[in-house]
Amino acid sequence: MSLFRPQVQQMEGYTPGEQPQESGWVKLNTNENAYPPSPRVLEAVQQTLSGRLNIYPDPLATEFRKVAAELFDVDPDWILPGNGSDEVLTILMRTFVDAGELVSAPYPSYTLYETLAEIQGARFQKIQLNHDWSWPDATQNQIGDSKILFVPNPNAPSGNRWSDEQLLSLIPARGVLVLDEAYGDFCDQPHQGELLKSEQGEKLIMTRTLSKSYSLAGIRFGFAVAHPDLISGMRKVKDSYNCNTLSLAAATAALKDQEWMQENTAKVRTTRRYLVEQLRKLGFEAVDSQTNFVWCTHADKQHERRYQELKQRKILVRYMKFSLTEGTLDGLRITVGTDAEIQHVLDALQEIG
Ligand code: PMP
Repeated sequence: MSLFRPQVQQMEGYTPGEQPQESGWVKLNTNENAYPPSPRVLEAVQQTLSGRLNIYPDPLATEFRKVAAELFDVDPDWILPGNGSDEVLTILMRTFVDAGELVSAPYPSYTLYETLAEIQGARFQKIQLNHDWSWPDATQNQIGDSKILFVPNPNAPSGNRWSDEQLLSLIPARGVLVLDEAYGDFCDQPHQGELLKSEQGEKLIMTRTLSKSYSLAGIRFGFAVAHPDLISGMRKVKDSYNCNTLSLAAATAALKDQEWMQENTAKVRTTRRYLVEQLRKLGFEAVDSQTNFVWCTHADKQHERRYQELKQRKILVRYMKFSLTEGTLDGLRITVGTDAEIQHVLDALQEIG
């Protein structure tokens, strides 16, 4: 007899991307930023290190919330920080969804949503996207009584972004729409959460991360922006000290240096365009990405072989495979690294054939 809860016994669990600990890899598999964080982050952390680490951090993250609120032109009670946006997603699940209730998400998209729903004992529904990554006509009916619809905006692993009108039409009648904007800063036209202030804003939650555009994946910091009525419930659910003193200092300093983030995301956009262009020249189909990664497929379906051969050359990209109602979809997701890294992977792909 298992000691685990039935849900835990039955579930597969989430498998994070490979994180080789030795150096020498061209690592383009988990969408980290190729550029370092702002020097102001390092200064802030160093200063904090010489401070009082024997004292608990501010449970309300007052300074961080103030800075984040200014960025999105809202009051600080619209902000809830977490230990990475993955933790914010967990808090959302625990705040809004009871065992047996329905959680939905597009498919293919971020597979963690399903794992979180399983842990909560919720029912999980995949809304299978069309081949061109658009939403199927029946989506509104399918969403039905979802307590949460999670939508990565832009989507992962495809990298496409949907229109605001499309997104607003997806708000579930008896639940909330979570726009997971882990990659929001990489869009050609990023937004500052204007949708949250629309009439339907009271049923919208946006999540952001510092792992990608701010180059702080190692720090673990993300946050939610939403109407205070929604945030107030989430605050009851979160651990008192879910963000530590060092990560709070790093995240606050990073948000204050908008110029640094803008410069890096601009570089990523330029390299991304080049990567898409070159992949197409090599015979791949590549999505016009709005993120810091590119999803590509090839008519010859040799994706797994290419992934393995790249790996033999110490180039790590992500090979992904999804079961669809008819057949499977697989392909390669390549993080937009530095120009040199991208040239390296393109040369290798040409060689591999
Ligand atoms: N959402 C999406 C769509 C992601 O791809 C990721 C990164 N794997 C996250 C959320 C989580 O990011 P983090 O926990 O590093 O903030």
